[in-house]
Amino acid sequence: MRGRVNGARASWMAAVVLVCGVLVLAGGAGCRRRGGAPEPEANGFFCPKCQLKFYTDWEVFADKCPGCGNIDLRMVIVYTCTKCGKAILDPSGAPTILCQECKAPAYAGTAPTVQQLTGWGAVKKSKSEVQ
Ligand SMILES: [Zn+2]
Ligand SMILES: [Zn+2]
Repeated sequence: MRGRVNGARASWMAAVVLVCGVLVLAGGAGCRRRGGAPEPEANGFFCPKCQLKFYTDWEVFADKCPGCGNIDLRMVIVYTCTKCGKAILDPSGAPTILCQECKAPAYAGTAPTVQQLTGWGAVKKSKSEVQ
């Protein structure tokens, strides 16, 4: 009897440890999401041929321009200005660009959010339009 009680207690302890571990993992992920860069929600593209700015859902990757069918697309990246901290969307793919306002270098960083893409003038395209 005594052995069975101890066994049950041990498995209960294991369950508590497991739950705590899951909470720590979930909490850690939550902290990273809040504190770091915004989670990417979309892929932004620019067509150098017809100058079309568009974006797709994060899980969709454009193979061609929905406007002219060009397959030589540029991905849009967010650059952060080292002086004013402004987020600049640019499809050049260069490691650094110049901030339009203070002419300071801006470094390539994260993928843009939907809000940033629509503000930049991109329009949403569906999977069937870009593949
Ligand atoms: Zn195009
Ligand atoms: Zn700036």
